Amino acid sequence: MLSVHQAADGGLARVRLPGGVLSPMQLRVLSEASRELGDGNLELTSRGNIQIRALRAPGELSDRLYDAGLLPSITHERVRNILASPLSGLDGSYDLQALVGELDRGLCASPRLAELPGRFLFALDDGRGDLAAVGADVGVRVVRDQLALLLAGEDTGVRLAPAEAPLVMLRAAEAFLDERDGEWRLGELADGVAKVLSRLGYSRSGGQQQADAEELPAGGPVRAGVYGPELLVATVPLGSLGPEQAAVLAEAGRLRVTPWRSVVVVGADADRLQQTGLVVDSESPWNRVTACAGKPGCGKALADVRRDARRVTPALPKNQRPVHWSGCERRCGQPAGDFVDVLALTDGYSVDGSEAVTAEQSVMRMR
Ligand code: SF4
Repeated sequence: MLSVHQAADGGLARVRLPGGVLSPMQLRVLSEASRELGDGNLELTSRGNIQIRALRAPGELSDRLYDAGLLPSITHERVRNILASPLSGLDGSYDLQALVGELDRGLCASPRLAELPGRFLFALDDGRGDLAAVGADVGVRVVRDQLALLLAGEDTGVRLAPAEAPLVMLRAAEAFLDERDGEWRLGELADGVAKVLSRLGYSRSGGQQQADAEELPAGGPVRAGVYGPELLVATVPLGSLGPEQAAVLAEAGRLRVTPWRSVVVVGADADRLQQTGLVVDSESPWNRVTACAGKPGCGKALADVRRDARRVTPALPKNQRPVHWSGCERRCGQPAGDFVDVLALTDGYSVDGSEAVTAEQSVMRMR
């Protein structure tokens, strides 16, 4: 059965989506499962997965996921953490989906790799640098007609033919298991990159400087590749996808869940997406507002940060700088780089260390 964590609001199940791929049928299954067995919403995670909260019947959910092809391996479910550039193959870029599938099947077929820590991450970057920057434990990045092997986010200088990449990535993960002594991530292991390369029979040759990362557009049309204006990025406010939003997305032709709380959509009606509260405007403040779980999902939370963020975000200006709402000082899910730090206190919110103010008053301090 799918493993379920206990959160303050009940069971929490995480559904892995290697490469972010989710068919419209699978989205319908997940949304219906959340309505009938959970709190009704689907929560998008920073690893491009989907969570169902307040889960009442884990066994029933497992059966539904299995039938929909979303639970191919009980033993390996925790370790199927595979990110891929969300626009890969859709906007004229290198298509990584076949490699993602091969890597996932190889991972599930290896009993040894079920021992990987749940935090261990694979990433495949189509050359634009969006995922090379996430510092995955084992990754590849397209460089002309080859794939650069990345370990702990570092370009090792090793170049692979596409056909050999999945196997080398799996062997790199096994090498990490051989070397680790309790570490969860390759970057935590002393000389980890050199040790893994040595076990693979490669030597580090120093990677070439790659072009700067090209980030995924934050909401809006992509206007590239064969899909042209049909290709959209829809931001899911606070990463929480409601039933109506899921139903409209499931009318699209193709979907990919991104690690940035958005969904790449082919063939959806942008106006209909917006009517449900999904965001297809690249300047909307919703593209840059994030929040931790807060109350009632987290027992440490001092406030229902998502409710308050929902209430006040429409008052923020376009192109607002990033804002992160936290229910306590752990600041789970805070973005990298500069952001406005909105922290729940017992008597209100502090903004970048200010005295306590109300959620409404906090808006003036965010600009
Ligand atoms: S930041 Fe605090 S309140 Fe928010 S999810 Fe993390 S532990 Fe819970």
